[in-house]
Amino acid sequence: MEELLSEKPREECAVIGVYNHPEAARVAYQGLFALQHRGQEASGIASSNGKQLFRHVDMGLVADVFSDATIFDRLKGSLAIGHNRYSTTGSSMKVNAQPLVVNSKDGPWAISHNGNFVNSHLLRTQLEAEGSLFQTTTDTEIVLHLAARSRKTDIVSRLKEALEKIQGAYSMVIATRQKLVAVRDPHGFRPLCLGKRGDSYIVASETCAFDLVGADFIREINPGEILLINENQLYSTYLQPRVDRRACIFEFIYFSRPDSFIFGHAVDKIRRKFGKVLALEQPAEADIVVSVPDSSNTAALGYSHTSGIKFEIGLIRNHYIGRTFILPDQTMRDLKTLFKFNPVQGVIENRRIVIVDDSIVRGTTLRQLTKMFRRAGAREVHVRVSSPPIRYPCYYGMDFPTPEELVAGKQSIDEVRNYIQADSLGYLSLEGLLSAIPDGNLGFCTACFDGEYPILPENAISKFHLEVPIVS
Ligand code: 5GP
Ligand code: MG
Repeated sequence: MEELLSEKPREECAVIGVYNHPEAARVAYQGLFALQHRGQEASGIASSNGKQLFRHVDMGLVADVFSDATIFDRLKGSLAIGHNRYSTTGSSMKVNAQPLVVNSKDGPWAISHNGNFVNSHLLRTQLEAEGSLFQTTTDTEIVLHLAARSRKTDIVSRLKEALEKIQGAYSMVIATRQKLVAVRDPHGFRPLCLGKRGDSYIVASETCAFDLVGADFIREINPGEILLINENQLYSTYLQPRVDRRACIFEFIYFSRPDSFIFGHAVDKIRRKFGKVLALEQPAEADIVVSVPDSSNTAALGYSHTSGIKFEIGLIRNHYIGRTFILPDQTMRDLKTLFKFNPVQGVIENRRIVIVDDSIVRGTTLRQLTKMFRRAGAREVHVRVSSPPIRYPCYYGMDFPTPEELVAGKQSIDEVRNYIQADSLGYLSLEGLLSAIPDGNLGFCTACFDGEYPILPENAISKFHLEVPIVS
């Protein structure tokens, strides 16, 4: 149990499902490749030829896990699901890599999950007390145990019964020998999209996966929807009770790729608008705008456009570091920034700089960057952030630390400015953030900024001593 308690929420991953394609596993691989930014710790694919399920998972990046082309000869069949797992420190065991495959009383099931359950500890304790033997420490396995106990006879009813006991964030795909099921939790925290290529259906976390595999985007899986694809037909049912959507606003700020279309919008457009509103709310007297590549490029362009301050490429990122770098302590995190970024002296020297970043978590990146810019000869370093201060932990899959470790968790904006050693610091307001999304006042989770949790986790108060309102 100690191990389970030390497992941090970390299921901010990528999922993909491919139905009715002669080379389903290869298409799943391509999709996972496009979704690499959502998880770099482990990758895997499970496929079905209608009689049997095949599986290959390993630690590492998609290209490395599937570098041996003969793997695809073994991943037979026209149905496949895949998963990329997000990298954090802590236990990152191969046994937790997905898709998980189990044998149920009516054949094998494979499952890939993105998101985080908030009542998993309670459910797992109950299941173990009643004799369930768990093989992994992931939340995901709970779905399988609950579904396996259901007396219902079809997969959708069994899943429905299981998922109606589970609270939290999940976008998942499930494969049996012949069926593909895609499910999004009733709040719709995480994205999940449906695409089509010829007679094949594809389900993916983000639409950028469709572009690479040549599929057209059809629609999103709706919050609470269980979509079954069987005999080339789509059937949809809904989990009860229905609730208002609470899509994770951080997908727009940081996590999703700008070339994706999620939650009804092009990510690029929304992210650019964040930068534009930021320029209006938090102007700066400066000579150039510099982004922190790649995550803030789009917002920095928006800032430059509206402020009229020239956008310059003043910071170069080493792309070979990835996000897999192990970061056991603060010294290592500081080192990571040095490994990752270097300023362009000729661009920075003698200039007043506005650095636009998408978010500040611990403050490590910006503290290092302001130092680097000054060493490169910057006259002034102003920091503008295209999201509000992150003050509360995320229980639905974003990898944020406790309020004590969040630099804005307990400190004022001026204290954060002092910590990152900026000449000035300005954050986008929550109202400004929401105003940048056409339907921003409807249906987004902003708990990391305002503590308004759509579902309160079972252990939130004891774990974090937070007094948070329950909003349902
Ligand atoms: P900090 O250095 O302040 O701890 O983190 C801020 C930087 O991390 C920003 O450049 C932002 O793009 C990035 N970031 C924001 N959210 C996340 C996340 O959930 N995971 C990871 N790996 N990086 C993040
Ligand atoms: Mg960044």
